[in-house]
Amino acid sequence: MADMTGKLVLGFGGITDMEPCIYRDNGHYDGTLVELNVRKVELVELFSDLNLMDAASSTHNDKYGCRWGGGANGLFPVTTETIDALRQLNTKKRVAREEAEERQFAEAAARVKLLTESGLCPKCGTWCYSDCQEAR
Ligand SMILES: [Zn+2]
Repeated sequence: MADMTGKLVLGFGGITDMEPCIYRDNGHYDGTLVELNVRKVELVELFSDLNLMDAASSTHNDKYGCRWGGGANGLFPVTTETIDALRQLNTKKRVAREEAEERQFAEAAARVKLLTESGLCPKCGTWCYSDCQEAR
């Protein structure tokens, strides 16, 4: 494996330590076992709408080292084409998630409107005359 110092690499991070991301490899982590090839990394781009499985095939099982820390800590060589593909997939999934959230919000608002118009309590869906809210 060529020296990866200074190169963009594929790894995993984010709040779960399992979200695909692009790191810059800043060289060997001093004071760690050489054979583990622990690397200093700097986050360049996090694909927070993707999960481990979305990028599993992009690693090509070609782990060259790891970052310091837990979770999925393997580091893998990556091409510009793969970075672009992951970015596009992340955007697609983010848009789908946002649309689903908007749809849920619109459905909830429509339900409250329907219940309110029919004289029902929007919270419990019965003619409770808001007693249900005082009981809590
Ligand atoms: Zn009620």
